[in-house]
Amino acid sequence: MVEGKFIYFNGHFVEWDKAKIHILSHVIQYGSGVFEGIRAYETKLGTAIFRAYDHYKRLKESMKMYRMETSETIEDYINITKELLIKNGLKSAYIRPVVYRGFGPISPNPLHAPIETAIAAFEMPNLFNEKVEKGINVCVSSYRRFAPDTIPAVAKATGNYLNSQLAMMEAELNGFDEAVMLDVYGYISEGPGENIFLVKDGALYTPSLTNSILKGITRDSIIKIAGLLNIPVFEQNLPREMLYAADEVFFCGTAAEITPIVSVDRIPVGDGSVGKITRMLIEKFREIVHEGKDPFGWLEFVEAEGY
Ligand code: PMP
Repeated sequence: MVEGKFIYFNGHFVEWDKAKIHILSHVIQYGSGVFEGIRAYETKLGTAIFRAYDHYKRLKESMKMYRMETSETIEDYINITKELLIKNGLKSAYIRPVVYRGFGPISPNPLHAPIETAIAAFEMPNLFNEKVEKGINVCVSSYRRFAPDTIPAVAKATGNYLNSQLAMMEAELNGFDEAVMLDVYGYISEGPGENIFLVKDGALYTPSLTNSILKGITRDSIIKIAGLLNIPVFEQNLPREMLYAADEVFFCGTAAEITPIVSVDRIPVGDGSVGKITRMLIEKFREIVHEGKDPFGWLEFVEAEGY
């Protein structure tokens, strides 16, 4: 279980154990919350939030899709997050903002339930812990990602993760580290909490926004890093079998960072070890978030005296 000192909760910093909501809150009954997962890294130049603006912009977009409004601007959210890190004495952290519908009428209609905000921060290793170094073994899930005209995949909403949960349980109970999900048409979509890339003949391939994916910020970072390294990137429909024919496959996301995939459905990816292009991307990503060598202006430094 994670633990911390303070949580930002509806306008105040409250003690960790005091950030509580009513059991009949709309978000608990009907899944009406939108959220983010953001990392702060301890770089050589100090603690920095990775792409803070882009994460809070996506939060605002998710809110808009669900007709939610709060008084905080993106800049307010960033400042609150910096204060939260300082108050918690965190040099590196996983940051979890959530905007949700609170206690109101018992009805799936969310419009009359109050909108509340919390931001928590705590220490969290890579999603796959030490497995991130050697790569993980995945399966293709029998559960599909939601169809485009059902639940918006581009919104990072709490309820979306029921679909992810089914795939994750299936994967773990069948002895895999994670699942890859297909979209409703059978094309590759994403992981339950990660975007996916394939490498084939020196180029990167990743599903597009029309494949029911979250528009991942790490995904975007990889596309931009690939540009810097002159690696071509194609965003397109990808048939499932490309997972077996690919030279390299990897997941990416805030929690997963860049996690190599070394087998799919027990078929080795390439020669079954972490590939060259995956390694290059990991190295460049780590250079940015650990050494602070950031040609893109992605690091939002938390500057405070004695912190
Ligand atoms: N897809 C899903 C379903 C996710 O939950 C996440 C994690 N936020 C991602 C992709 C990766 O997105 P990001 O790189 O912005 O963390």
